Amino acid sequence: MASITKEQIDILIELQTIETDRYQLQKRLEAKPAKLKALDEEIESQGSALAGDEQSLTDLKREYRSFEADLKINSERIKKLQERLRSVKTNREYQATLKEIDDLKAKNSAIEDRALEIMDRIDAIEAAVAKKKEDLSLISEEIKQDRAAIEKEMAEEQQRLSELEKKRQDTAGRLDPSLMRTYHRILALGYAVAIAPVVQSVCQGCNMNIPPQMFNELQRFDSLKFCPFCERILYWKPASEDSGISAEAVACEEKAEQGEA
Ligand SMILES: [Zn+2]
Repeated sequence: MASITKEQIDILIELQTIETDRYQLQKRLEAKPAKLKALDEEIESQGSALAGDEQSLTDLKREYRSFEADLKINSERIKKLQERLRSVKTNREYQATLKEIDDLKAKNSAIEDRALEIMDRIDAIEAAVAKKKEDLSLISEEIKQDRAAIEKEMAEEQQRLSELEKKRQDTAGRLDPSLMRTYHRILALGYAVAIAPVVQSVCQGCNMNIPPQMFNELQRFDSLKFCPFCERILYWKPASEDSGISAEAVACEEKAEQGEA
């Protein structure tokens, strides 16, 4: 394409800006499901920690009850043996019964020590469970709000995306088909930004200085010019002007490419 109008360049800049916005918006949208999943996983992990503690409590309480049952059995046995002591006939039998009583008492004393330990652990875990339940309910409430905020953002971004898509189609329809082909040919080089402004003779796409003659020609907007270094379509942008493809868009493009690599 030899000749070009400033109007066509402006349409291309508009198209590029819309597509860059769309790209960034899509990236943000694509990241949202992972954010939601991370929130769910946090709840899940807190919930399973709580379930683990509750299981320990159940096990410890069962153990405690079995100790109580053992204590009761042993105490009843001791009582019977003590009654028998009054009716034993021989010294040997008396000593044997006495020893049996002492053994049972020693057993009970060991069981009581162990039961006390378990009671301490039960108390500690019950306190931890209460704290975890409280934390979980606070976190659940926070996460519910976070989820709602993310879902609202997603809906807004989805809406904005379809607006951009409509705008993109309108703008693309106004672009000269051969300029459109050139634009896509440069995008196919792997760039997300195919048209770059030249500010003070520096291509904002690759930061290289373009030849002075090309810089002069660019300011006339009468023919399509390509950066001799990165091949992007160039247009002249006065240093004072804010509109057009921003250096941020190009920087963002590079970051996105590195992120994908
Ligand atoms: Zn360049």
